[in-house]
Amino acid sequence: RASRKATADVRAEISYVMIKPDGVQRGLVGNIISRFENKGFQLKALKLFQTPKDVAEEHYKDLKEKPFYPKLVDYIISGPVVCMVWEGDGVVASARKMIGATRPLEAEPGTIRGDFAIQVGRNIVHGSDSPENGERETAIWFKEGELMSWDRTMTPWLVE
Ligand code: GDP
Ligand code: MG
Repeated sequence: RASRKATADVRAEISYVMIKPDGVQRGLVGNIISRFENKGFQLKALKLFQTPKDVAEEHYKDLKEKPFYPKLVDYIISGPVVCMVWEGDGVVASARKMIGATRPLEAEPGTIRGDFAIQVGRNIVHGSDSPENGERETAIWFKEGELMSWDRTMTPWLVE
């Protein structure tokens, strides 16, 4: 379960963002993390991780019937990934925009996939597609103690 600050009726939104094995192998870790830092989202959790097969299968369970599913699981477990949780208002939709379309040739320049990828089967990065999946995926990839609630001194310069 994600631990985070909550005010009376507002829970902070989180997205599970993951740099896939191709992004790690291609040396894009710093560039991708910088985009989320520079945008102003707050890092809640981060690790380099070799994914067990059952974790990849749980993460992508909605795609189980797709013809590319076995290849997708093999790709995700083919090397270390960088697992992250980013927090902030609208982070789920914003991260999806920053990541770009699933098919990299359809992703706009300026997006991560638009700038760095060609093929859907090597599209570098994952981002949750709904706040509910942000919570669900975070619980798959992180243990409770791996999420940090921390006061960031620059937050008043990002959020009025
Ligand atoms: P996403 O939310 O943009 O990542 O896209 P989806 O949830 O639809 O698919 C999850 C992941 O499965 C994608 O990011 C790709 O890595 C992979 N994928 C989706 N469609 C295809 C496909 O047609 N072929 C292959 N090889 N992989 C695919
Ligand atoms: Mg998806």
